[in-house]
This record gives sequence, structure tokens and C-alpha cells, in this order.
Amino acid sequence: VLKVTEFVTANEMANMMDIPVTQIIASCMSLGLFVSINQRLDAETIALVSEEFGYKVEFVSLELIDSIQEEEDDPATLKDRPAIVTVMGHVDHGKTSLLDFIRKADVAADEAGGITQHIGAYSVKLENDRQITFLDTPGHEAFTAMRARGAQVTDIAIIIIAANDSVMPQTVEAINHASAAGVPIVFAISKIDLPGANPDKVRESLANMNYLVEDWGGKYQCQEVSAKHGTNVKDLLEKVLLEADMLELKANPDKGAVGSVIESTLDKGRGYVATLLVQAGRLKVGDLILSGSYYGHVKAMFNERNQKVESVGPSEPVLILGLNGAPQAGEKFHVMENEKEVKDIANKRQQLQREQGMRAQKHITLDEIGRRI
Ligand code: GDP
Ligand code: MG
Repeated sequence: VLKVTEFVTANEMANMMDIPVTQIIASCMSLGLFVSINQRLDAETIALVSEEFGYKVEFVSLELIDSIQEEEDDPATLKDRPAIVTVMGHVDHGKTSLLDFIRKADVAADEAGGITQHIGAYSVKLENDRQITFLDTPGHEAFTAMRARGAQVTDIAIIIIAANDSVMPQTVEAINHASAAGVPIVFAISKIDLPGANPDKVRESLANMNYLVEDWGGKYQCQEVSAKHGTNVKDLLEKVLLEADMLELKANPDKGAVGSVIESTLDKGRGYVATLLVQAGRLKVGDLILSGSYYGHVKAMFNERNQKVESVGPSEPVLILGLNGAPQAGEKFHVMENEKEVKDIANKRQQLQREQGMRAQKHITLDEIGRRI
């Protein structure tokens, strides 16, 4: 078995198999490809050529050759972490209204002032002192964009369905995305304050899709709400917490931070700003971060209340300044020690990106995402 990354060169392959590079070139030629010694080969070619020489290939991710693959945590270091929740559903069914209401219901808001800036995620403290992190990127684009990069940040999906409209195409899509990712679903039947609301019609539509809700004897939690008036939103959050309890979400909070980029942009005044979601470890001002082909020391961090913070732990979102570019949503980030290593990896990734060019982009169809997860 040959362990290779996609895009090893003809020469590197020859070395791995201990054969002259001319044989690789000849083999490529028989496939109709004219390659040079230092040309990188795509996955299909690598697989076909290795097979010809009696090898099976196993593709390993870039992270592995970067030598920054995360080590497994000792179970003794793991502590409970808050759930990370995404709200998905058909347009106009009430996603934004629900997220707004929850944001206002945050008890920490009384102590520290309300949420003042949209950074793509926010963390709320509930009356029972428990915390939930919400991704509030519009629609489920962020969810799919992240999954396209193999990032799995969502623990639980709230799928919201308006009771005056029932299950619609984007509802089905949202359910399929969550299911494909193995993310538990809590259904919110919204707009129950409207005269034309028919929550049972929603339950029936879900049952017809084999999603039988709890109050009808099924396994899916479901809550009627009015996102506009906030009716039953507390009960919805209780159900989310119940789901979170079953997942036993844990992370090691005492190591260098790792996590995912939620969004990033170039801000005229502040330079590159990125919202990061810490998934394990603790992120501190001054830490050296690598994300995709960008890096930098964290100059300053702000929470969704635009308050400066010095450090954040697992499941917490934070806006940071200090990267030398804008990594894409869904890109992983790692805190690293060695600046030279960081620059080497960033350069190597930039080079690979250039070489892959358009080829990488053809993968990003929804269909493809479904198959990759
Ligand atoms: P989104 O597209 O899913 O983000 O939906 P919005 O939250 O923007 O809601 C679309 C419209 O429905 C807005 O005019 C909201 O005021 C309204 N709306 C949302 N939730 C409710 C609700 O529970 N009851 C009522 N009566 N209106 C709602
Ligand atoms: Mg909206």
C-alpha cells in the first residue's frame, strides 16, 4: 500500500515505488498522458499507475503531510463543551426571527450589553446557566460551504417549518443535509400564532418523509413556536439541550486551539478579520494561527458584543485580527508553535492551490458534497 497525497510528482512516485522515473512516465504515456519528471499527478492517474506496478494507493490528506494532524486527546483531559447549533429551513419560515429572539433572550446580555455585531455566530447563556452556540450565517449556505471543505462544526440542527406553509423544497434539502452529515435534528414548527397555522399538517408531511415526531410516537423532537412573539422558544431550547446531553459533547480545553473559520473578510480599517469557532483547546491573544494558506499572530479578539477578550475555549466563537489573508469559511485553523514551519506549510498550500487551479473547483457541487461526507 502506497500512502500518497493527491498531486505527488512523477519523480516522488518513482522514489516511493523504488523504480526508475522513466517507467512512471512510460506508464502515463500508455494512458495518453505526457508528463515530465516534476509534474504533479492527479488522483486517478496515481491510482492507475500504481496499480500497474502492483501497488494499492491510499490517499492521505494535506493535514497529514503538514504534520499538524491533531493528536487524540487523553480521555482524562476532556471536559463538557456547549452544543453548536445551526438553524435551517425554507426561506421566510422564520430562521432570522428565531435567531433574533434567542439572541435577545440571552441572560448574559443583561450583564454585558446586547449583541452588537454580526460575526456569523454567537453564544447565549440560558437561565439555567447552560450555554449554546448558534451559527447565524444566512440560510444554510454556510453549512453546505463548510461541509464542502469537510468541516463538521454543527452538533445539532434546528429545522424550522412554518405551520401556515408546511414542508417546502428547502426544508427537504435542509433535512437531507443534516441527515447526510449525521447531525441530530430538532424540528421547530413556527408561526403558530397565525390564523392559518396547521401544525399537524407539518407533522403529517414529516411522517410521510419517515421523520415521525415524538408527539406522534416517533423519535424526532419537535416544538411548536412563534419566533415572532417568542412563544415556546424556551421549550425548544430545552429540547436542544436534551439532544446535546445525549451527544455528550466534550473537548480538551487546555491545549493549543483548533477549530474552523466561520467567515472572514478584509475590513478597511482593521485589515483581515475572521470569525473563528474554537472546537478544542484555548485560543489566546498572541497565539500563532495557521488557516489554509494564511497565518498570523492573533493581535486582538472580540466577542459578539464587540468586547475585547483575551482567551476563548471550546465551542466559543470569536472575531480575530492578525491573519495575513482571508481563509474560506469551513477552513480549519490550528495554533502552532514554530513560525518557520507555519510559513513553509502556508507556502506549500499556496503552491498546491495554484497548481490545482480550476480543477479543484469542479468538485463543489451539492451532489458531490453529499457523497464526500
Ligand atoms: P427567514 O427567511 O427564514 O429568515 O424568515 P424570517 O425570520 O425573515 O421571517 C420571514 C417573515 O415571517 C418575517 O416577516 C417575519 O416577521 C415573519 N415571521 C417569522 N416568524 C414568525 C412567527 O412565528 N409568527 C409570525 N406571525 N410571523 C413570523
Ligand atoms: Mg433570514
